[in-house]
Amino acid sequence: MKLRIDKAKCVGNARCAAVSEELFPLDEDGYIAVEQIDVPAGKEGLARRGARACPERIIIIEDEGQ
Ligand code: SF4
Repeated sequence: MKLRIDKAKCVGNARCAAVSEELFPLDEDGYIAVEQIDVPAGKEGLARRGARACPERIIIIEDEGQ
């Protein structure tokens, strides 16, 4: 599974990181630090929850994978 993040629109409320700090790393200012995430096997549920948790809807599931 792959996630794409429209980083420029992040407002830094850390809702994604509250779901998983490991999957959704923040930069030193509290904004999402990456534009793409390759979700490790077994973390798909967390990835979906993190995407749903973003009120800005900028975490997009780009590839559901297997
Ligand atoms: S939940 Fe969305 S807006 Fe908030 S820090 Fe994460 S990516 Fe940014």
